[in-house]
Amino acid sequence: KMADKGVVDWTYSTCGYCSTGCSIEIGTNAVGKPVASRGVGGADVNRGKLCLKGIFEYEVFEAIGRASTPLIRDHIHEPYSVSSWDPALDKMASEIKRIQATYGRDSFAVVSTGQILTEEFYTLGKLVRGAIGTNNYDGNTTLCMASAVSGYKRSFGSDGPPGCYEDFEHTDCLIAWGSNLPEQHPIIYWRMKDAMEKRRFPLIVVDPRVTIFAQNADIHLPITPGTDVVLQNALIHVILKEGLEDLDYINANTTGFDELAKEVENYDPTSAAKLCGIDEDTIRTVARLYAKANRAMSIWTMGINQSTHGSDGVVGINNLNLVTGNIGKPGGTSLSITGQCNAMGTREWSSCSGLPGYRALEKAEDREEIAKFWGIDPEFFPKKRGLTETDIFPAIETGEIKGLWLVATNPMTSMANTARIRKTLEKLEFLVVQDAYTDVETSQYAHVFLPAGIWAEKEGVFTNTERRVNITRQVTPPFEDSKSDMQIFNELAKRFDNGQKIHFPERPVDVFEEMKTLSKGRLCDISGMSHDLIEQERGIQWPYTEEHAAQGAKGTQRLYTQPATFCYANGRAKLIPLPFINNNEVPDEQYPFWLNSGRLVEHWHTRTKTGKIGNNNKFSPIPFMEMSPDAGHELGIKHQSYVRVTSRRGDAVVMVMLTHRVPKNMVFIPFHFYDCVNRLTLGLLDPHSRQPAFKQSAVAIEQVDQD
Ligand code: SF4
Repeated sequence: KMADKGVVDWTYSTCGYCSTGCSIEIGTNAVGKPVASRGVGGADVNRGKLCLKGIFEYEVFEAIGRASTPLIRDHIHEPYSVSSWDPALDKMASEIKRIQATYGRDSFAVVSTGQILTEEFYTLGKLVRGAIGTNNYDGNTTLCMASAVSGYKRSFGSDGPPGCYEDFEHTDCLIAWGSNLPEQHPIIYWRMKDAMEKRRFPLIVVDPRVTIFAQNADIHLPITPGTDVVLQNALIHVILKEGLEDLDYINANTTGFDELAKEVENYDPTSAAKLCGIDEDTIRTVARLYAKANRAMSIWTMGINQSTHGSDGVVGINNLNLVTGNIGKPGGTSLSITGQCNAMGTREWSSCSGLPGYRALEKAEDREEIAKFWGIDPEFFPKKRGLTETDIFPAIETGEIKGLWLVATNPMTSMANTARIRKTLEKLEFLVVQDAYTDVETSQYAHVFLPAGIWAEKEGVFTNTERRVNITRQVTPPFEDSKSDMQIFNELAKRFDNGQKIHFPERPVDVFEEMKTLSKGRLCDISGMSHDLIEQERGIQWPYTEEHAAQGAKGTQRLYTQPATFCYANGRAKLIPLPFINNNEVPDEQYPFWLNSGRLVEHWHTRTKTGKIGNNNKFSPIPFMEMSPDAGHELGIKHQSYVRVTSRRGDAVVMVMLTHRVPKNMVFIPFHFYDCVNRLTLGLLDPHSRQPAFKQSAVAIEQVDQD
């Protein structure tokens, strides 16, 4: 079959879609054109398998809309002019300098992504912090993983998922919170199913929808949206009442037990059932199953993170695992399933609050260490965290931010309340969009468009959900006149010579060496790794020190395996009481349905890639709305008819799919499509993580005249 495609060479890479981190090989033909993809048999993560997206990933290199040259214009209502690189980058640099000189350094903001390589994140962070010097720099990972980061930090003293996929092979009970694993992370689901076939364990899925995952569960908990904390408190209530907690573990590893015990007193299953919609007997059954299991684990995704209680929901999962002694054990863990292929990379190496290697802007010693290493004055750094992506857009509205640089992110489709986003983008004095595809919707509002290479047109590493650093080799050079993101950052850096000694290495392998040095002694230590060793091992989990490498050891599968080794100064994790405050937008007489949103297996994010790949798009070409047949019957709405969905933000017309997948008071619309569900979403923010609640809005439905 591969001979039919004319494959003459295979190049090792890591899939550029989701955070599962599958090892993939891209086949090229005699003229070097990518013509095939295949899984890598010896890879620990995927053992030769790929999902639908990975199988057809070779088609993204020349997909419709690939950006081939820089584009510039003075006003967003004019057509773009084709430009060469120097005028485009000169214009960008002079506009950034003009805005900063006129309004102050922080009036220019940067929002990046979870899609570029770690060496590129590191370089971008260095450019933004050390040369341009704005404090307002964040990633679109605030839309997906910020609550997990915040929750891990609050519970354990640091970000960093403590478990791994192999935990499925050791666990005796699994709760999946707000995760539709078969559609969102198909290969992790396959790993879980494979483990379950060898060693049967109970699977409990918490989700208001009857997802494919829920259909496969032993127990499905169709929770009321936004009430996960209530359920978590109730489970701990039962565990403590029945003496099922692991007191030895709690005493040796945690603080705050008495305060937590006092708080969960308020969540007896009878009263909790009224809030979270799960009957009290089921709450008791699940609590006993989890606490009596020798090893129990929880996984979660956006159903927890994308909530006004996202960070608390993560802490609640950690509380549950800490009181049952299920952290750092094979099969006993709290494992956040990350979204984008390199969301972890931005968490480790550059983000809103961070400096490289999980260092914090707020800490003087961290600032001084990085400033010395980069050769800049520590006073050049801001002393507190800047705005998150979700706070940057309101700051554009108020005039605090005048210029914006978007790197591989598409807020016109991905952010909540897109009518508001459109108005803010129109208000900017200067917008740069850097992307691999010119037809990305946000480019309509840019003054400069920079064409960027995609993942395997470059070389560097990603970190996956289980902290595994894996490598992408360059399969083919960047498309036509596009450049790698790293080249773009380096070219721009030359235009920001601010008299400091800061240096920007050009080769990814040299950037990786800098990162290794800075990682020494940190939780995310990668000092024992090299690009070649990573490829040889098909990925290595951090921490991986020089000592690990000298001993020929494998990577670190689990964190916090030894007593009192959490990242707080006393080595103990914090048990944190979580009083439930109902602050969601909820259905009412005027807007009687919950609106839920999520992903489809065929598509990735805003479809800039998968919307153009036949074998992805043909299975899911248009948006649709799941609605209960009972609700449809009451409103006289038929299957495959069109309805207008209205919220307090706007409206969208969408085709109806009548299905029992959703309860009678809820509708579900996938989030991938432009001008659709995010016209309706409210996106209230979690107070800790600033992550938006995409899954809890209220809408009304009316039939559209079919004529
Ligand atoms: Fe790529 Fe994720 Fe599919 Fe693996 S599961 S092939 S990483 S999209």
